[in-house]
This record gives sequence, C-alpha cells and structure tokens, in this order.
Amino acid sequence: MAWEAVIGLEVHVQLNTKTKIFCSCRNEFGADPNTNVCPVCLGFPGVLPVFNEKVLESAVKVGLALNCHIASYSKFDRKNYFYPDLPKAYQISQYDMPIAEDGYIDIVLEDGVKRIGIKRVHMEEDAGKLIHGQGVSFVDYNRTGVPLLEIVSEPDMRSPEEAYAYLVSLKQIIRYLGVSDCDMEKGSLRCDANISVRKKGEDSFGTKTEIKNLNSFKGVRAALEYEIKRHISLIEAGEKVVQETRLWDASRQITQGMRSKEEAHDYRYFPDPDLLPLVVDKEYVERCRSSLPEMPSAREARLKSQYNITDYDAMVICQEKDWADYFEEAVKSVRNPKKCANLMITMLFEQLNERQVDIKDVNVPADYIGRLVDLWDEGKVNNVAAKQVLIEMLDTGKAPERIVEEKGLLQVSDESKLEEFAREAIEKNPKVVDDYRSGKRNAVMFLVGQVMKLSRGKANPQKVRELLVRLIETQ
Ligand SMILES: [Zn+2]
Repeated sequence: MAWEAVIGLEVHVQLNTKTKIFCSCRNEFGADPNTNVCPVCLGFPGVLPVFNEKVLESAVKVGLALNCHIASYSKFDRKNYFYPDLPKAYQISQYDMPIAEDGYIDIVLEDGVKRIGIKRVHMEEDAGKLIHGQGVSFVDYNRTGVPLLEIVSEPDMRSPEEAYAYLVSLKQIIRYLGVSDCDMEKGSLRCDANISVRKKGEDSFGTKTEIKNLNSFKGVRAALEYEIKRHISLIEAGEKVVQETRLWDASRQITQGMRSKEEAHDYRYFPDPDLLPLVVDKEYVERCRSSLPEMPSAREARLKSQYNITDYDAMVICQEKDWADYFEEAVKSVRNPKKCANLMITMLFEQLNERQVDIKDVNVPADYIGRLVDLWDEGKVNNVAAKQVLIEMLDTGKAPERIVEEKGLLQVSDESKLEEFAREAIEKNPKVVDDYRSGKRNAVMFLVGQVMKLSRGKANPQKVRELLVRLIETQ
C-alpha cells in the first residue's frame, strides 16, 4: 500500500518596518553588532515597551492577503525561556489570541490548483543572533526586538513539491505587499517543517517530527524527502518514529535528532502586563484592505486577457511585482504586447540575471524597452541586433533609436541591396546551389549565412531565405 506524507509549515517573516516592534531602534540588516540597541530591546529592568503600529498594519495586510479572519481583539503574551540570545528571558509573542486566523492560499501544481489552509498569523519579536567562533560565542542584539510574523499552515501538504510550491506562493504574496524581502539568506524568511507519514486513505496522523535549520526552499524540499524516507523505512522495519525536533544538515543532506533535553520546554505563557490588548475595528481593517495591491494570481489573469499573452508569459512576468510593474509601463505604447513579453523574458531577464541586478535598479526607463520592441516588431532591427541594443542600453542608458543609429544596426531590408548580396552568394557557391537543386533543401541555409555575413548581420534572415529560393528557382 502506498504511503503519503502530511506536512505543515511554520514560517517566520521579518518585517521591514523602519524601527523595531517595541522601541525606536532602527530595524536594519547588516549594521555593526550591538549598535541598534537600547534599554528596551536589551531588557533592562524598569523599561516599558511601546507597540509600533506599523507592525499591526503589516500583520493585518498579510492576514487579509492570506484570506484570514482578522481578530477584532487580540493580545500579546510572554513566552518564557532562558537562552543567551534573549536578554529579557522572555519573548513577547501572541499565544491564544493571534491577530489573524483561518485563511488559505491557492497553490498551482502540475495537475491543478490546491488550497492550503492557514491556521494562524501572529506577531512577535525576534531574538538576538548567536555567532559561534572557535571556542567562543558572540551575541548580536541588533536583531532583538525586530518584528516578526509567524505564519502557520494547516497540515494540508502531501508532498515535498507541495511544500515547495506553498513557500514560493507565500513569499510572492508577501513580497507583493512590500512588507518583507523574504530573503532566506539574510534570515528574513525562516521555515520549520512538521512531517509525518501514513498509509494513503487513512484519516489519523502518524507520529510527527519537526525539522529545523532549513535555510533554502530547496533545502526544505530535500529535508522533507529525506525525512519521509526515514519515517517509512522505520515503520516498515517494525520500529517507531520518535516525536522529536531534528536539525537539517545541508552539507551531509541528512536530518539529525537534537538532544531531547533541549526541547523539553514549558514556556509558561501569560499576558504581557506592560502592553494593552489590541482592538482593531472594521474601518481599520477596511482601510488596510483597500491599500492592498493587486495580488499575483489576479494580476496574472488580468495581464493574460488585457495583453493577450500566454499563461507562461504572465506567470513569469508576475513572479515579482516590480517585474509586472515594469512590463506594464513598457507595454503601454507598444503595438505588439506579446513581443514585449518575449523581449523581457528571453532577453532582459537573462541580462539582469547575468549582471545580478534588480529591475528597480536598472537605468533604462521602461519606455525605452517599449520603443525597442517596436523597432524589433517593425523589422527595423533583427533578433541579434535587438539584443545588442538592449545590452548597450543597459550599459549606457542611451535611447534605443540612438544606439541603432550610432552602431549602424538598422536592418537591411532594402530589396536591391539584399538582391546584390544574394546574387554574390549564389555566384560564389555553385556547389551549394547544385546541392539545393538536387533536393537538399537545407543547403540554402548556408547561403543565408553568407548573405547575413555580407550584410554584417543586419539582414532579415527570413526575407533573405525567401529571396534566395526565388533567385535560384527562377535562374
Ligand atoms: Zn531598542
């Protein structure tokens, strides 16, 4: 009988508010250690936290984008534990009354769309960061008090691929909202996975393990694959899965159990007496809702119908909000939107990827891309030249028409000039012409290449081919 996996994910997202959640220290990544700290986030005795309302706004937006119910009344609780990265010896979090609950996101899989439930979204503060050296450990409290959202899914995923697709969608939605960059390398998105296996068709759950120390989406997928195999082989050997937390070792591609003592926690949650309960009225929620951008799936559907581009084009372009914004700006005055999508996907994204540049840092106005698309569409430049112009635009920021002019890239479609080149190619290659006449129709491509050379790459290859065939067959 076949096995199936039951997977739930807990994702922590660092919010990009200007300041921390309960004090006015700057919330920035990469500052010198222990420079963005104050008595509040260092947990000095007698200090009082003041809640940053921007955190609430981000949390409500994320809750709405994930189709959650927003709580009209929620509160902060203290989660008590002792660890060197937590100077107060408690973390302010939300325990039994989170800001948002009962939502979902629809993920796109090969065989269709699947709805994954969101159990809850809650706000909390981050702990500091421990840095382990040789024989010593350091702690950086810059991260202490940085606002986090914890997003907990229902155990609705049935394979590592579904978990991967869920993470991709979740990240895309949060990036569209602009409340976090969700960069796993910088730790602004972190993920823990709960996993168990059962026979297909069963309703009850098997014993689960929790996997921590996952530092990429691919790592999540690989760790889940490993853990599923481990569970199945234990059960099939007549042994039991032990409920425990395990760490993913990316270099060895295995999970390993943590010592059980480390996870024997009793957090003694209780409401934080220094913070007022949060009362969120309907108007506030509606204000947040009306400020939401168009979400990725809705935008994909609109782009497809508005510009008549393919599913694939719309999917790629809408991966990032900045890309979709740029596309819509570029396509405004373009005659052939499909060509605009082509140029962005096959040429522009490739260049940006090679240069490791973000589209919002590019010095080429979207309008220039649109004008280049028109030049290409009108046949004034061919594919090769279009790419050359694009590269030159990215290097210099010059307008496309000027580059075409300066580099002499205007496509030769002047019939008499092309005919002159074609006749020259035919005269110089009688053997190839014979081959063509004897039925080797592909031989003409050699002649096309010769004409392209003579025109220094500026001829329209399609036209050249037609012309050559006509000349040879009428000679
Ligand atoms: Zn502070």
